[in-house]
Amino acid sequence: MDICATNWFQLEAYLKQDDRVILPLGSTEQHAWLSLCTDYILASRLAGEVGELARVAVYPGLPFGMAPYFCAYPGTINLQPDTYNRLLSDILTSLYTSGFRRIFLINGHGGNSPVQAQIHNWLNQHPDARVQLHNWWSAPHTLRLVRHYAQNASHASWMENFPWTRIPGVTPPAHEKPALDVARLSQLPASAVREYIGDGNYGGHYQRSDDDMQAIWQTARQETLQLLEHGWG
Ligand SMILES: [Zn+2]
Repeated sequence: MDICATNWFQLEAYLKQDDRVILPLGSTEQHAWLSLCTDYILASRLAGEVGELARVAVYPGLPFGMAPYFCAYPGTINLQPDTYNRLLSDILTSLYTSGFRRIFLINGHGGNSPVQAQIHNWLNQHPDARVQLHNWWSAPHTLRLVRHYAQNASHASWMENFPWTRIPGVTPPAHEKPALDVARLSQLPASAVREYIGDGNYGGHYQRSDDDMQAIWQTARQETLQLLEHGWG
């Protein structure tokens, strides 16, 4: 159930028979040859599809997250951890006040994951609520299929290249980029990150067949749906 196509009377009726809600978490940042909004697009699309299958309320996604290491690339929006923690807490509290008790966050961006600590703090204040932070791309079934296709797969590589994250008319490079040294990357300020990673792909080919990508998407959908239906603590 798309919140943007729902009025408050309808939501009030929904809340009498379900207390689940989905909120996609994205980021706007360099994704090499793919859309700057890749993480937002993927989390939002997955949320919309799974929400429709399960008839669960879906909020519009948060387009911005924490991406300090990409600040030297044009287009990146970077929220400070304090800002992001407070933003998410206010959203969780508002959802709780509305009557939601099981909140399912579909996260498209690894850099947002530290917000898990804040979620625990919020849960301590709202002990009857449940929150799942679901990193869809690194969930076991999805990641296993990704690694089955290729070990070398990471940020802005083929594993994020779906028909809906490509830029029309842009053809990415055909070669396989060697995997970056993430331990080295984590030591660098944004300007040196850009110098080191160049176009922004962390490693891997830039594109795979649509059949392979559809298979990954179907797996992610099933895995996400399963957690939304049965993954509550
Ligand atoms: Zn991404």
